[in-house]
Amino acid sequence: MAAQMKKIECPSPCNFSVKSHDEKELVEIAMQHAKKSHNMSITEQDVKKMIKPA
Ligand SMILES: [Zn+2]
Repeated sequence: MAAQMKKIECPSPCNFSVKSHDEKELVEIAMQHAKKSHNMSITEQDVKKMIKPA
């Protein structure tokens, strides 16, 4: 089974995006980014809604 690459793009105008085939890694990076760059606490569920195929 080939791993599908997935990506998250930050909706804010900050040009942040992250790509991985590991959904767990994407979620962690996105949550850290939201907290560090936007002082926002987002949940794993929120992040999962933002995941798109890359
Ligand atoms: Zn951002």
